[in-house]
Amino acid sequence: MHILVLNVGSSSLKAAIIDPLNGQRMISLTAERLLDDPVAEFSDGSQVELKRTGHENALKSCLLALKDKLGDTEISGVGHRVVHGGEAFDRPVLLTDKVAMLIGEQSRLAPLHNPVNLRGIEIARELFPDHNHYAVFDTAFHQSMPRRAKTYALPKELMDKYGIRRYGFHGMSHQYVSRKAAEYLKDDLRNLRVISCHLGNGCSVAAIEFGRSVETSMGMTPLEGLVMGTRSGDLDPGIPTYLHDQAGLSLEEIDHLLNRQSGLAGLSGVGNDLRTILEAASNGNADCQLAVQVFTHRLRKYIGAYAAIMGGVDAIVFTGGIGENSKVIRHRAAQRLNFLGAIINEDANSILQLSEDQPVAEFSMRHSRVRLLAVKTDEQLAIARDCSKMIAKADEVNQLPQIPVAISARHIHLTRETLDTLYGEGHELKVRKWLSQPGQFAAEETVTVVGPRNQIERVRILGPLRSKDQVEISRTDEFFLGIDAPVRESGKVENTPGCKLIGPAGSVDIEDGVICAWRHIHMTPEDALRFGVQDRDVVEVSVGGAERSLTFGNVLIRVSEKYALEMHIDTDEGNAAEIQPGDTGVLMNTGSTGHLVKRKLSVVR
Ligand code: AMP
Repeated sequence: MHILVLNVGSSSLKAAIIDPLNGQRMISLTAERLLDDPVAEFSDGSQVELKRTGHENALKSCLLALKDKLGDTEISGVGHRVVHGGEAFDRPVLLTDKVAMLIGEQSRLAPLHNPVNLRGIEIARELFPDHNHYAVFDTAFHQSMPRRAKTYALPKELMDKYGIRRYGFHGMSHQYVSRKAAEYLKDDLRNLRVISCHLGNGCSVAAIEFGRSVETSMGMTPLEGLVMGTRSGDLDPGIPTYLHDQAGLSLEEIDHLLNRQSGLAGLSGVGNDLRTILEAASNGNADCQLAVQVFTHRLRKYIGAYAAIMGGVDAIVFTGGIGENSKVIRHRAAQRLNFLGAIINEDANSILQLSEDQPVAEFSMRHSRVRLLAVKTDEQLAIARDCSKMIAKADEVNQLPQIPVAISARHIHLTRETLDTLYGEGHELKVRKWLSQPGQFAAEETVTVVGPRNQIERVRILGPLRSKDQVEISRTDEFFLGIDAPVRESGKVENTPGCKLIGPAGSVDIEDGVICAWRHIHMTPEDALRFGVQDRDVVEVSVGGAERSLTFGNVLIRVSEKYALEMHIDTDEGNAAEIQPGDTGVLMNTGSTGHLVKRKLSVVR
């Protein structure tokens, strides 16, 4: 299979024809300075004749030349990189007219990028009318960020009206390198907490907890966060006003300053290429020395912050032109992280060389609990793979069984030891009601859960007993109790808060175990086969039939012989979605027909 991958920028075009299985390029094309002095070259050394007749003509000429190069090679689809998916897209989609319109609507959030992406899409659809086109978004991977990470502290109405929130970028790269890292570590990404540092001309860090992005340093636009080639990154928001008042700069000038004249270029005074800056810094140039210090100081600050957000980290990944190639920056960023359990191996870092044959290399000591890795990113391949997945799924639509939906009220699972303390030595739970999951029951017994703010009485114990205590509450309960509990799958209680439990025979302070249950579907291995999913996949489910249809994103699949098919949501979600007895859900097709465009939901966390 071959996929044509296109990345159309305001002054450049990158294109490649890629085999998504092995990442091999049949041919690739890079065109630059499309507006003024266009040059375009294929990977075989041949060039495209381009005249100075504007962006659109240059794009057309490049794509026509590419079409020529294709000869008899069949392509299976065209993948377009789109910078901003806004609220509308949380995954890649088939490009329909409606999808193109929605991409256009996101232009207000990315006025420099989305309109040119869209122009590229239009031209490519004209030139390759018989192929399916797909849009893959820079922002989509970060849609899983919790609201607390997405939200700026601005007036709510204003943010709602103008779509102001943190979206994050470089999603394809963060997702690709975190998967590569998990492969290298021979572990499942869903068991790992990864901090991924994409350091190129644009730079961003992402906290990827058990496979999902939970924080990233770029915000509503790609200007926030790390120091970049020409972008300032984080800044006191008072500075633009100050510059306007004191230096008389217009909004346009300030925008230009922060995006094009700041960052490494602004600090160093010798341009944005880190190689030049490092060279000058070693030769004593004080501005360049400071530029390197500011760059890595900010990076280390984010690494520490993201470890705190995830309650620890298992691997820190460096990628992008700088992350892959600069031992100096990796050294500076990874030093003195021993307190986190990350111990750099300076020798390994210094000889590290990534290549096609060795796309991942480790530079932590053997006794380092946190693994330090450099990983070669490949965003074009990530796009090609997303497209091939959509092509493979194109026929599997909705002939699937309905999934019963149940509301899971607050409850608690206990260990033998805790039950002994709360109810007396050797107490046996009495079955009040058998639950739909085989062997599970709601017990007669209840406990009082005590938080720093309030307590909730008569929280039902579910049997049978388990090897860990676990208290599952809703967001509303959390705020009532005054506990900040993370959203977790059942059983994953590391780094979660504890609480006090009171029973008739005594009380226990549990150190951890309070979670907000991640909405999930229980199913058997046979169900999983029918749905084409695996244990711990994350899917989207439409609930409530045609009239009251609501889509729940971010639903976790749990597969076991012991389960019966059922989706569990918590009381808050059930109330918000007005779930009624007998309601069922349908597993949505995961990414081929364009109807995945996410509806605005009142129920999504
Ligand atoms: P990217 O945007 O990922 O292509 O990264 C481009 C940036 O990577 C360039 O601006 C350089 O500053 C940086 N870079 C590439 N190679 C090296 C290297 N060997 N040492 C330091 N920086 C490098």
